[in-house]
Parts: sequence; structure tokens; C-alpha cells
Amino acid sequence: MDKKTQRCPYCQEAIYTNAIVCRYCRRDLPPNIPPAFRPKDPSWVPLLIGAAMVIGLGAILRAGYNPEAPQDVTNTDD
Ligand SMILES: [Zn+2]
Repeated sequence: MDKKTQRCPYCQEAIYTNAIVCRYCRRDLPPNIPPAFRPKDPSWVPLLIGAAMVIGLGAILRAGYNPEAPQDVTNTDD
């Protein structure tokens, strides 16, 4: 078990990081950001690769359709 401690934001006493209520002042503690929030699950990688392939393919097709297309980067519809 991970028994790291943190400071209670209310009374500054040392409490466990996984505590939900301070055992000193008995206040509700703000929830910690769970480690699961980090994208350690690589399920998004295939999506990213797929999106990159679609974008790359689209760019190739567009270049193939109109090889002399001006690089109009100032296409702003006011
Ligand atoms: Zn406290």
C-alpha cells in the first residue's frame, strides 16, 4: 500500500493522500486527481495513427487532384 502523506489544506496536519476526510479537523478533502487520468491506456494510439493516415491520405489525394493548387494559407472568411 502506498501510505504517502499530504498536508490538510484546512488545518495543515499530515494526513494520508487517499484520505477523504481529515482525521484532525474532520473536513471533507478535495478529491485527488486519480493516476488513471493519465493516458497510460494506449487505446488512443490506433485512433491517432488512423487519424494521421486519413489526414495524410486526404492531403495526398488533394495534391493529386490539383497539383498546382496555390498554397492559400490566408483563407479567412470574414
Ligand atoms: Zn484538517
